[in-house]
Amino acid sequence: MCRALAGTDCRPTPLRRRVSRPQLKRDPLDGAIMARRDGQGTCEHCSSAFDYYLVHNGFNGSSYGYCESCGRTALLYRPEWPLAISIPFHYEMASWVEEQLPPCICGGRFRPDGAPRCPKCNATLSANEATRWLEEQAVGTSEGWRWQRSWQGLYCIVIDGRVIEYAWEQGSPRRLTSA
Ligand SMILES: [Zn+2]
Ligand SMILES: [Zn+2]
Repeated sequence: MCRALAGTDCRPTPLRRRVSRPQLKRDPLDGAIMARRDGQGTCEHCSSAFDYYLVHNGFNGSSYGYCESCGRTALLYRPEWPLAISIPFHYEMASWVEEQLPPCICGGRFRPDGAPRCPKCNATLSANEATRWLEEQAVGTSEGWRWQRSWQGLYCIVIDGRVIEYAWEQGSPRRLTSA
């Protein structure tokens, strides 16, 4: 299903990026579970380029954190009612939620106050510097969309497909996929 995200478009996914994923029935997973690409970002430290996409956590019913060591994104999908009301979703994850997540595959912790990193030099990317390439490539910019200029808030970013997805099931996060 094509989701009309502000600042992103819905181009067909190039075949080479298609990877086989488990079939998941829950609708909120549709947007993020497919390989996506919104454009190309640039590291302000080493000038290398990388693919990225933005996730609108309000549409996805998700929250997120970034690994403090490698900058990988963790996406956590909202649990079913009634647990859903006890967890603040749509933004970076609450710190008690972060404590429930297993470590990143690199051994680092996912943190709500974390930031994405350059896949090449591993330096932390600046949310302000990213404004240039994010607003330049977002289709919503001409209609007034603006980047939130922060790695906290409604949107999170996935760089070079480096994301680990979790869903709350029976009171704890269950890992869905990784890339
Ligand atoms: Zn870099
Ligand atoms: Zn990591």
